Amino acid sequence: MTTEIKEKLKQEQLFFMQQLRDKANINIVTCGSCGTVILHHMDKEDDIVCFDCGLESEQYDFPDLIY
Ligand SMILES: [Zn+2]
Repeated sequence: MTTEIKEKLKQEQLFFMQQLRDKANINIVTCGSCGTVILHHMDKEDDIVCFDCGLESEQYDFPDLIY
């Protein structure tokens, strides 16, 4: 796979992610502790809680799955 195609596919993923954020107001993040994928409603300003390991922290501890 060429670098060009890779970049194009990556941009497509970013675009899909943006559609989710814009239309559903939901972001997909990963737990900074265990890596579990978590859906997070973007209207909520409060801490995110990982349903798997129980980590409860601010949004910066839960990096975006796609960025
Ligand atoms: Zn976790």
